Amino acid sequence: MITDSLDLARALIRCPSVTPEDGGALAILEEALGKLGFTCHRMTFSAPGTSDVENLYARIGDAPPNFCFAGHTDVVQVGDAKSWSVDPFAAEIVGNRLLGRGAADMKGAIACFVAASARFLDQRDENFPGSISLLITGDEEGPAVNGTARVLDWMKDCGETLDGCLVGEPTNPEYLGETIKIGRRGSLNGRLTVMGTQGHAAYPQRADNPIPRLLRMLDLITAKPLDEGTEHFQPSNLEITSVDVGNHVHNVIPTRAEARFNIRFNDTHSGDELERWLRESFDSTDSDYQLDIEVSGESFFTPPGDFSKLVANAVSGVTGKTPALNTSGGTSDARFIRHFCPVAEFGLVGATMHKTDESVALEDLEALTEIYLRVLDGFFPAS
Ligand SMILES: [Zn+2]
Repeated sequence: MITDSLDLARALIRCPSVTPEDGGALAILEEALGKLGFTCHRMTFSAPGTSDVENLYARIGDAPPNFCFAGHTDVVQVGDAKSWSVDPFAAEIVGNRLLGRGAADMKGAIACFVAASARFLDQRDENFPGSISLLITGDEEGPAVNGTARVLDWMKDCGETLDGCLVGEPTNPEYLGETIKIGRRGSLNGRLTVMGTQGHAAYPQRADNPIPRLLRMLDLITAKPLDEGTEHFQPSNLEITSVDVGNHVHNVIPTRAEARFNIRFNDTHSGDELERWLRESFDSTDSDYQLDIEVSGESFFTPPGDFSKLVANAVSGVTGKTPALNTSGGTSDARFIRHFCPVAEFGLVGATMHKTDESVALEDLEALTEIYLRVLDGFFPAS
């Protein structure tokens, strides 16, 4: 049956849905959810300079509270296909593992939630006080412009409300039950270009070398740690990721020098405040520079409360482990959803995500299905 987590995970992996392609993945979900009684809304969003992306919002029940599961069917590139030991889109089972792109991140978790919903609806005879919904996008691994944020706008326009959301990202680094995420760090990308005047290396007085000034400016922003971290966040970090001059000769002073950097920041900062600090620091050097900033997400944090407790209880009930509640790692679509309702993230083991031979343990698919079922049971206590 397609509402079995393994069968559904395999069917989804067989859809080559590398962002922004859908590869038929949402149609498979729509069919499985339709059979369970969900009303499905498919939405294709587009924006200038981006590819069209397909999304799905499915809901069963009309009454509040509305429990939402959020995820993405798009996957990252397979990289060098020859280095895989199997076809990345064949969903092969080798030993006790399911292999394929998206197995961990995060088609496996979507399949588990659908299977858990099927069991829950079966047990409750479809009479339960509330609604279950799924918000599934095809634009999480890409620019995330035509995905979750747009679906949430649409939901707002339709008067759809959410009362709690679980995002199925692979939050466990090594074993199932290790980590629930209750927030994420923000991310800022910066490109600093310093202008000079080209000239002969033997006549520096007739040129203006931008390289020493670029190095001074980078030194200014890396001299001190950004903060010490907080109870739920590790310290913010500024990482210089590239320094480029593009000069291949010894006797020419270049016209320009460029550096790129990324800041992962906790909730003691905002993107705006960091940009102000960067500009003030660079202004203090009296250099002619250009700074391009892109904030791909602000940091956010849902204080541990009823919702994270509910998820933690389900996780420890099934795995026997006490999950850590933290905010490590990259960004996720939870950054959009947190404006609407309490949000936590829990999914499969991420050790192989985005890698060659991405895989999940078959027993983890079964355990995660049971965890999601317990979350639903806890969210809708039987009267
Ligand atoms: Zn993911």
